[in-house]
Amino acid sequence: MSARILDGRMIGRAIRNRIKVHVDELFRVAGVIPGLAVILIGEDPASRVNVTNKMKACPDVGIRSTLIEHAKDVPAEFLVENIRRLNDDPATHGILVQLPLPPHHDVRAVLHAISVERDVDGFHLYNVGGLVVGDTIFSPCTPFGVMRILDHAGLPIEGRNVTMVGASAIVGKPMALMMMQRDATVAVCHAKTRDLAEYTILADVLVVAAGVLNLILPQMVRTGAVVIDVGINRSPDGRLVGDVNFEGISQKASYITPVPGGVGPMTVTMLLANTVSAARRYVERTRGPSIFLQDVTQLALQGR
Ligand code: NAP
Repeated sequence: MSARILDGRMIGRAIRNRIKVHVDELFRVAGVIPGLAVILIGEDPASRVNVTNKMKACPDVGIRSTLIEHAKDVPAEFLVENIRRLNDDPATHGILVQLPLPPHHDVRAVLHAISVERDVDGFHLYNVGGLVVGDTIFSPCTPFGVMRILDHAGLPIEGRNVTMVGASAIVGKPMALMMMQRDATVAVCHAKTRDLAEYTILADVLVVAAGVLNLILPQMVRTGAVVIDVGINRSPDGRLVGDVNFEGISQKASYITPVPGGVGPMTVTMLLANTVSAARRYVERTRGPSIFLQDVTQLALQGR
């Protein structure tokens, strides 16, 4: 078997074209340009690359983005005060704090300062808790992007065995909850899982987000499985690669995401979608819900 490639760039482009239509409508109907504030603390080079990628995507769909940089030792009170000011800024509809934060910062305190209506990364407690009951305002971008990849390809989730490798608060856990919400049977594995292969081999859909090069080998994957590789690593020869052995597993899987060009572009796309949703919600809150032609809050959930 040779796996079909789930092309995140192509799917992302289709969704971004739809997002653009909503951005145009926002301006036409309400005179509003969606605004995203991106907060970068410290000098971590990987974080800077991530921030640059996110901000570069904004103008393509008509979002205005602003970068706010702080030194790594910025006082917590100053940071939180700054976020509170952005919460009240009518031109800022989404706020994102790039993670990870320098070690001495209290991540929870910083993230919880973002108002739930501007929490476009989906990390506010309300949005995190909402995943348990399937009622978030904003879903976290990476797992949201994975769901959109599967839906776009028409791949069923209900009743499937899903194995999630990685249990972080930003990828693995929300991903598992979103899969459960869609009636999958979900196993969640982490670094202390005793026999990883025992779980991965059961998976109809295998999602891997561990950040470990070559963690998943072909013998750990069921023939015909759908394999979603969230991981990002540098191979010894300097290439950007995921957590799964792509060459071997693409001979066995039915579908697979490449790295780069799989989940990464979808994460950025869902950030754009959440930001535009946030701007629409702002307009509806301040001017009434009937202002738009369509009654859409989670616009990226529409259609294929
Ligand atoms: P993280 O916070 O470091 O979490 C890694 C998870 O993997 C933890 O739950 C850890 O287990 C588990 N793990 C580590 N080694 C393992 C092993 N040998 N076997 C099984 N599980 C193992 O990382 P993250 O933020 O979730 O990110 C994971 C990867 O995805 C990274 O490569 C990151 O760069 C990438 N990523 C990509 C995107 C994208 O848009 N493409 C977005 C976010 C993250 P414990 O909980 O037991 O420690």
